Amino acid sequence: MKIVAATTNQGKIREFQEILGELGYEVVSMHDEGIDVEVEETGSTFAENALIKARAVSLLCDYPVIADDSGLCVDALDGAPGIYSARFAGEDASDADRNVKLLEEMKDKEDRKAQYVASIAFIMPDGREITTEGTINGEILTEEHGTGGFGYDPLFMCNEIGKCFGLATPEEKNAVSHRGRALKKLYEILKEQVEE
Ligand code: IMP
Repeated sequence: MKIVAATTNQGKIREFQEILGELGYEVVSMHDEGIDVEVEETGSTFAENALIKARAVSLLCDYPVIADDSGLCVDALDGAPGIYSARFAGEDASDADRNVKLLEEMKDKEDRKAQYVASIAFIMPDGREITTEGTINGEILTEEHGTGGFGYDPLFMCNEIGKCFGLATPEEKNAVSHRGRALKKLYEILKEQVEE
């Protein structure tokens, strides 16, 4: 069964596939289905933004749709960049630009605690909606380590695995990550429905 991901971020699509593939789902990007919508993330929470993205794509196709909204919340920055993680260094900035900005903002901070948060929204073709959330705690490093994952991963030291996400394998990251956890909650809900 096909699931359409309301994103073009290949890193996220790969992580959706790695977990939902176990239930026999094939996750494709909205572009693979010929869908190209610009969605304005006007919500004030990760969950609201995930639903906004999923609903916009769900209106345009007959498959289940999955979307996530996620980000990095840094204690010493009062939870920033939070829901603005993708736009932290401006609209057209790259992952590298955002990491430079994060290091700059954290230059004099002793408290390096941070949390990744992910909300997943899943919409069935009949309109039913499921939302789940996952979190993972860590610390912001003082320089980049590794090239694994994407986004802020080379700066995120994961307390639970004792390793920077930039150095972790996809399996190590998925086992504890915010998106992995939110996806596993969704997996359990979908599995129950498949079994019913
Ligand atoms: P979104 O596409 O609006 O959900 O933006 C999420 C942003 O948060 C991404 O562009 C990354 O900058 C950051 N982010 C979210 N999850 C991760 C992750 O697992 N690793 C690294 N960065 C992440």
